[in-house]
Amino acid sequence: MEVKKKDIRALTKEQLREFFTTVGEKPFRGNQVYEWLWKKGAHSFEDMTNVSKETRQMLQDNFVINHIKVDQMQRSSDGTVKNAVKLHDGLTVESVLIPTKTRTTACVSSQVGCSLDCRFCATSRLKRMRNLNPDEIYDQVVAIDNESRLYFDRPLSNIVFMGMGEPLMNYNNVLKSIEKITSEEGLGMSPKRITVSTSGVPKMIKKMADDEVKFNLAVSLHSAIDDIRTSIMPFNATFPLKDLREALEYWYSKTRNRITYEYIVWDGINDTQTDAEALVAFCKFAPSKVNLIEYNPIDDGEFQQAHSKAIDMYVAILEVNHITVTVRRSRGKDIDAACGQLANKS
Ligand code: SAH
Repeated sequence: MEVKKKDIRALTKEQLREFFTTVGEKPFRGNQVYEWLWKKGAHSFEDMTNVSKETRQMLQDNFVINHIKVDQMQRSSDGTVKNAVKLHDGLTVESVLIPTKTRTTACVSSQVGCSLDCRFCATSRLKRMRNLNPDEIYDQVVAIDNESRLYFDRPLSNIVFMGMGEPLMNYNNVLKSIEKITSEEGLGMSPKRITVSTSGVPKMIKKMADDEVKFNLAVSLHSAIDDIRTSIMPFNATFPLKDLREALEYWYSKTRNRITYEYIVWDGINDTQTDAEALVAFCKFAPSKVNLIEYNPIDDGEFQQAHSKAIDMYVAILEVNHITVTVRRSRGKDIDAACGQLANKS
């Protein structure tokens, strides 16, 4: 009977050292192999040139390296790059590189599909198949870092967990991937350059606060009025705004970190002064930034971006209340790489 080999990157460095001890080798080998797996991005045991042939064979007999494969890469006319990423079990997720003059940002997926049901988001039409493992998230970042160096001659500067999936419903793996991304054995990036975006899972926001995470938090709010939010983000019925707000207050009291809100203004849905005032009332308890993001149509027009007058009204009301506001243009629309468009069309 063939034994199912283990994913070697599911092991911590300590576990890898222990493994080498149990097979009668020096634990130090564990450090070497660990470095190959994370820092040097080895795709196979063959790559590990300072490890003896016998040891490589022994690893080969016991483990697999489930490396992702960038299956298809598309480049947008605005420089945005979208990767279709094949996983070891044949499933696909997408990740995006977004270049600006001063930054390159990786937008990565945390799940295959999504279990939430936001009615304006293309990913919500895919079933949630499974969570991504820490190494599958990490690999997406490494692939984009390489593309950034290749096409823009600079390393990746920022990461947003705004691809497919709800990161806080795969919290442990997301956290582990960020530990790798920020550790010296991984990419050594500052957590200040990483943003985790959530539709708002109150319990997990509190957990993040308790874990004293150092990365940034963004909340996809889209409405601060329960009835409206529930109509566009049905899970709001389970996690109503009162609970979300309480969790965010807890987050702020523990971390003292500014909170970012993602917000789309739609025609006839949330484009009145009452909506804007509700947003102010919701977020003014802590230093906040509101990103008014452009809507990327995904269907036949049930949702439409509000007129610029409504956007101007939001900006004015937020500014009067000393809430930082930016109006964001979408990137990568021509290759379906913009927010809410990730749906494995290819
Ligand atoms: N589930 C997490 C991570 C996904 S982030 C979250 O909701 O935050 C994807 C971002 O794109 C979210 O802010 C989401 O609200 C937004 N989005 C979804 N569909 C969109 C669309 N069609 N146009 C513009 N933004 C969209």
